[in-house]
Amino acid sequence: MNTKTPLQSAYSTFVEQVNHAQVQRVSLGRDRIDYTLKPEFGHHRYTTRPVGSTDEVVSTLKRQGISVTIAPEPLPPASIAGLIISSGLLVGSLALAAKVSRAGAGTAVGMGKSKARTYGKSKTGVTFADVAGVDEAKQELQEVVDFLANGDKYRQLGAKLPKGVLLVGPPGTGKTLLAKAVAGEAGVPFLSMAGSEFVEMFVGVGASRVRDLFSRAKKQAPCIVFIDELDAVGKTRGGNPVGGNDEREQTLNQLLTEMDGFDGTNGVIVIAATNRPETLDPALRRPGRFDRQVLVDRPDKSGRLEILQVHGRAVALGEDVNLAEIAAQTAGFAGADLANLVNEAALMAARHNRQAVLMADFMEAIERVIAGLEKRSRVLTPVERQTVAYHEVGHALVGSLMPGSNRVTKISIVPRGLGALGYTLQMPESDRFLMLEDELRGQLATLLGGRAAEEVVFGKVSTGASDDIQKATDLAERAVTQYGMSASLGPVAFAKASAQFLDGGSDRRTTSPGVATEIDREVKQLLDDARNLALEILRLNRGLLESATQTLLETEVLDGERLKTLLAQAQAPAELQRWLAGGYCVA
Ligand code: ADP
Ligand code: MG
Ligand code: ZN
Repeated sequence: MNTKTPLQSAYSTFVEQVNHAQVQRVSLGRDRIDYTLKPEFGHHRYTTRPVGSTDEVVSTLKRQGISVTIAPEPLPPASIAGLIISSGLLVGSLALAAKVSRAGAGTAVGMGKSKARTYGKSKTGVTFADVAGVDEAKQELQEVVDFLANGDKYRQLGAKLPKGVLLVGPPGTGKTLLAKAVAGEAGVPFLSMAGSEFVEMFVGVGASRVRDLFSRAKKQAPCIVFIDELDAVGKTRGGNPVGGNDEREQTLNQLLTEMDGFDGTNGVIVIAATNRPETLDPALRRPGRFDRQVLVDRPDKSGRLEILQVHGRAVALGEDVNLAEIAAQTAGFAGADLANLVNEAALMAARHNRQAVLMADFMEAIERVIAGLEKRSRVLTPVERQTVAYHEVGHALVGSLMPGSNRVTKISIVPRGLGALGYTLQMPESDRFLMLEDELRGQLATLLGGRAAEEVVFGKVSTGASDDIQKATDLAERAVTQYGMSASLGPVAFAKASAQFLDGGSDRRTTSPGVATEIDREVKQLLDDARNLALEILRLNRGLLESATQTLLETEVLDGERLKTLLAQAQAPAELQRWLAGGYCVA
């Protein structure tokens, strides 16, 4: 082990390092965790303060075969209160030690018994008031609360209760907290278990744990079964015929069987959480299983303010503390990061022997937490933020002038879950089965509008538009090869019929080399023209591009009336109508 003094790290950083299997050994203390990274990650020693329960992390470590030791507690002060508190803690840490060592020894006795923690009536003690900044998710879950609390009302009407709700979102956004809050609000028992706990080393143990969990749930209904880290059990089956994980598949099959086995009238609702929805077996999403998906995303500025208010209640805030200002400086933070921030600031104040936490403490804490987050590129630099803002406004501005039903209804620069830096939401006003040629062309220009804005403003482009370019190219290719929208090639289908249902890359019919060249030329022409039109629109509306971007940088999200009013000022260039009619040519 490295002998240098340990570095401080944010708890969320630690969790991330554990999830990326970078951690070599861990010592769990009462309110601190000391750990060392594996040699290939620097072999450095770190110390961090846990936020909330550490069960999840411990089980991940367990799965990775990493040794977890329990740090000895310091002797308690000889007061009655001190004795009571510390004996409680002792029991807690002994229990934890027992749990960890049992997993290490792998005794098979009693292994099939579910280790699910049960909380009695509303014992989770968590309500919706504790979860902030995720209003849409709360709204969707309100219905589940109502089902659980007033099941009879629904049963009388013959309504089917939802069976499974999948909470999807990046780590630390409050998925576990939300599930507990649903139980707390409905006043029903909460049985929780992490997906990784199902998957043990003995074949069959996971499946029997699932059975056990559900049989207990049925006895306690109405209740909530919460499966955290669903991806640990729910990965697509049969991907790997050689090294397939039989145990995991059996567990997953058992879970599917259990979910099919109750009919939704007995009041057991299964809530699961994952931050890797794309890896889940499609069977889990079928009707009657996890057919509802609720997105729990990183909060925007006003959401962050609400979360800071929730966690700020627990500490003594100095008079100079401006939570709105802190919210403005913490773009990209998830709820757990904000909870951690408040805690770090309080520690900072304690170090300075202050009576209350001051703004200066928060500022220092922000720097520390950001340093941790930046490594995972979740916090944008000011220049990146600006680039993303121009890009998103570019999409929206170009889109606002295009025909058809795909109106841009929301733009955001809150860094989102899975890879996207910002996003633009286009809402079809109704289901569409046909796209007219002018709409298709409009869609192309809108897709390329983001990159065009970067070009207009900075004179150069970033790598952030690759997805847009991919989508635009696919669409242009289909226009030419499937929809017969090219004048020179005419109404000839160049894609094989069987490939038409596949979005994107199509299987082409055998064509002469000349025709293939012409297809490529036509696709490129469509895209070049769309790009030029987008550039034209943005140059003409340069002032609006600037002002809308400033507004977006200020508020992080633009939607509804505000966005509509802004975009209504956009002017159409003379070329627009010709382009839409298909006769546009810049050459
Ligand atoms: P997830 O399950 O999405 O990874 P958790 O629910 O475990 O996140 O969040 C960890 C902790 O971070 C919570 O116990 C809470 O203290 C804080 N937290 C996260 N999201 C929120 C939120 N939306 N509102 C308030 N606190 C939050
Ligand atoms: Mg969680
Ligand atoms: Zn884009």
